[in-house]
Amino acid sequence: MSQAAPEISVGVVIPAAGSGERLGGQRKQFRLLSGKPLLVQTALAFERHPRVAAIVIAAPQDGVTEIESLCQDFGLSKVSKVVAGGQIRQDSVRIGLNALPDETTIVITHDAVRPFVAADDIDRVVEEAARSGAASTVATVSDTLCRSNDQLAGETVPRDGLFRMLTPQCFRREILERAHEMATDEFTDEVTIVRAAGYDVTMVETSPINIKITTQSDWDLAAWMWPAFVNRAG
Ligand code: C5P
Repeated sequence: MSQAAPEISVGVVIPAAGSGERLGGQRKQFRLLSGKPLLVQTALAFERHPRVAAIVIAAPQDGVTEIESLCQDFGLSKVSKVVAGGQIRQDSVRIGLNALPDETTIVITHDAVRPFVAADDIDRVVEEAARSGAASTVATVSDTLCRSNDQLAGETVPRDGLFRMLTPQCFRREILERAHEMATDEFTDEVTIVRAAGYDVTMVETSPINIKITTQSDWDLAAWMWPAFVNRAG
């Protein structure tokens, strides 16, 4: 007799508690992209995704009420909790993880500042994490890479075998919880935390347009790309 596949319940943690210093002091997650705050555009990708059951947003310490209001205003009905984030991204993710509903079995982590996340990429990373336990979206590197500490080009770094680690990243809940409990160092993403705890993470190659909006030029590029992205997704 064949066994039924175990039920999965997907929860998303969106760390959105950054100070946004790199965009002239303005908190970039609240800046408007096509009429909606950046973090709302990002959260809507998960709100609309049929596999996602719950979303937790980690807000800046003084931004919880503001984000709760945004969730109301923009119909983010899957947001089950807005929590105050921590000093570093890793703390914000851990706090968000603890606030997910008890029934969540699969956890996606996704930066608030990456609005170009396609539904298909969410499906693929969830499927891989449900199968193997831990997965991350990645993009290949196509530019020539060079190391430098000044204005002069230094040695070229071979790009073979190098990847850009993106989000969404996705894990069985018990793996991500255990990895966070074990973490003693500071890490900038969940792949590094989960690997440090001894787990393998499978890479899922996805669209390189899923950029992290960090600088003003990222912002300019995002505003320019957004209409094409919406047309493609819609
Ligand atoms: O700082 P970084 O570029 O790594 O930020 C990635 C994401 O983590 C952003 O969405 C930012 O708001 C979030 N973050 C956070 N808590 C912090 C720092 C960053 O939730 N203390």
